[in-house]
Amino acid sequence: MPKNIALLTAFLLIAILISAAGTLQAGDMHIYINGQDYFDKFDTELIDGCLMVKARSLADILGAEINWFKAIKTIHLKKDDTKLKMMADNPYIQVNDKTYKTEHQPTMLKGSSYLPLKEVIEHLGYLYQENGKDIYINKPSSYVKGISWQKSGQQLLLELDKISPYRINKTDDPKKIVLELDQTALSPDFKDDLSNKNFYLKIEKVANRARLRLSIISKYPIPFQRDMGIDEDGNNLLINFLPSITAIDWKNNRLKITANGDIRRPEILLLQNPKRMVLDIPGLMLNNFDLNIEKNDWIEDVRVSQFKYDPVTLRVVLDLVEDKQMELVQDNSSNTLILKPADLSEVRELKFENSILSFITDQSTNPDLFFLEEPDRLVINLINTVRGDNFPDKIDVKGELITAVRTAKFNEETVRIVADMTRESAYKLEQKQLSNGKFKHIIKFENGFNKLVLTDSTTKTDISFDFLRQANYEVKRLSYPDRLVVDIQGIGGISQEELPEPLGLIEGIRIGQLSSEPQVSRVTFDLTDYHGHKVISMSPDSSINITLIKGAAEPVTGKNVIVIDAGHGGFDPGAIGPSGLKEKDVTLSIALKVQGLLESEGYDIVLTREQDNFISLKERVDIANEIKARLFVSIHANASNSRYADGTETYIAPDKPAENKLLARVLQRELSNSLKRKNRGILKDNFYVIKYTEMPSALVEVAFISNPHEESLLSSDFFLEKAARAISKGIKSYLDNVRQGDEGVDE
Ligand code: ZN
Repeated sequence: MPKNIALLTAFLLIAILISAAGTLQAGDMHIYINGQDYFDKFDTELIDGCLMVKARSLADILGAEINWFKAIKTIHLKKDDTKLKMMADNPYIQVNDKTYKTEHQPTMLKGSSYLPLKEVIEHLGYLYQENGKDIYINKPSSYVKGISWQKSGQQLLLELDKISPYRINKTDDPKKIVLELDQTALSPDFKDDLSNKNFYLKIEKVANRARLRLSIISKYPIPFQRDMGIDEDGNNLLINFLPSITAIDWKNNRLKITANGDIRRPEILLLQNPKRMVLDIPGLMLNNFDLNIEKNDWIEDVRVSQFKYDPVTLRVVLDLVEDKQMELVQDNSSNTLILKPADLSEVRELKFENSILSFITDQSTNPDLFFLEEPDRLVINLINTVRGDNFPDKIDVKGELITAVRTAKFNEETVRIVADMTRESAYKLEQKQLSNGKFKHIIKFENGFNKLVLTDSTTKTDISFDFLRQANYEVKRLSYPDRLVVDIQGIGGISQEELPEPLGLIEGIRIGQLSSEPQVSRVTFDLTDYHGHKVISMSPDSSINITLIKGAAEPVTGKNVIVIDAGHGGFDPGAIGPSGLKEKDVTLSIALKVQGLLESEGYDIVLTREQDNFISLKERVDIANEIKARLFVSIHANASNSRYADGTETYIAPDKPAENKLLARVLQRELSNSLKRKNRGILKDNFYVIKYTEMPSALVEVAFISNPHEESLLSSDFFLEKAARAISKGIKSYLDNVRQGDEGVDE
């Protein structure tokens, strides 16, 4: 039986640290106001250990209005919107319309009035901090009103008056990340709700500045991607963490793995000696979790580890009782995985006909398919499965794509089917239950037609095709009558029934075979009217997107400006490489080079920042949206907990028009071709700047600054120049490809 994992009690601690004040002595003191030493300009007196300053000198230094009413020994001090009223030898201070009791009272000395510095300065809204003989007075520009956990502890919300310069980064300790807020103080009515069973939070005031430092500490290393980890929401900041495992339970013959967020489908491996089932769950973080496994006949032990950081993968190993099997239940909810005891399935009737591989299992087995190279082959693993009677070792195939189908017993409960192929190719698995209760599995190798969708709006009609994999295609305009034809290579067997109803500018859709060697299908769209079209994809592609424009031209959408966004800046260095290279310098250098290259060819470029200054994510987006930019490209360098993580990737926001994907494709293609780093492909994520920009936008992660080799590349001007050329080329290629108007060829 598994040992019970001791659960940590919830961390419920907030520590606010500030250096204790020593006994103040006049002499070599310093009084810094916003960083400048004003000690010599103050008339000070120490009375009962309290530093008193002459009211007049304080007013002069702060630029405050001062009035002295001698008869009633009353001082009025006014700075900005704050008005203080104090009386000599009276312990009450009136701040606007509220009255407070003071510890030290104003006093008359040598005919002048003296005020307690700390109390007066704090009532005027300044931050007062002492460190030995140094006094620091700063005016914060923002206050933290509250800090609280959201989304079951996956997200930390900081409520602020306004966004002030912030930065977040990893530390030398992988279990700790630090968020710093500059020109910021805790609000007097600061409330915290920091209870979270996984993270311990510590807030420190930085002694000599209006700056807060929030340390986030976990019992386990924190997988944290800087660019995804922090987000703005109005005046608030959000820190996002990956979901983490919260419980593993065995109850009613079901093993349930629960997380505080979405669990993606794991990769499953069955291993022998000892018999165990390995579940590799992507994007899940290790943290404190409950383990409740009652004694049972299937599972002897459960082990959990953070198996990888690139990509983040949680590994759950189930030590199984000999001759017992488990299988994944299909109808899992979004934050649980459920496994149940499985019967051994038998596989029979392996066939390969008309480019279709099929077999039948008597249980609802879920084949695990993956492609291997050199030699190219598709591997199909059937776990918890044995070979049925007359199951062949090999099927002879004389295909152009598939050359042989072989089978083998991979281990006691895994049957492996291998399709030898002449090249990498997409495949599609379909499963259906037969009337006799058995399950038929069909694997199609031909490129096929997934769907064709038409959408119509007041300004345009959109056509979007989806295939199983990339296809070469051509879009042509034909006249008399107006038609648009799409000739697609290597796609067969689309039936008229799979085509949608005509819509908008399209009054008819037809399909036919244009040629058989090579195989080319033609889809013809009969048009009611033609005013121009745009193809928002590039051959070859696994999807085709075409926009038919209504009316003479699209409404003017503003200037033809391209916005280049250099990530981070100023107070926020972005990620920092192992030898100290800062992401903000790399991104600015590339952005300036892109600007130079494109401006020299006549393009209008606007940079969100041209120097080393902090700007918020919202300001970046506002710049692009306000000028109605044509394109927005954000430049970043990547970081990972794993120093081995490397390569180039490009992000787009999910659920945005096809233009975004095309932009990402050309950028990723040019960057990979030119930099020759690992091609990590195009990913979808809701980074703030690509989510809220209203024009086609993409975010490039040029290389990993956290990888020592790539950091050294990123520190070379030659490499940055190459990156800038690639980004410029990608932008030009995008603009050429979606240029508007009649691009067709009349036949
Ligand atoms: Zn970044």
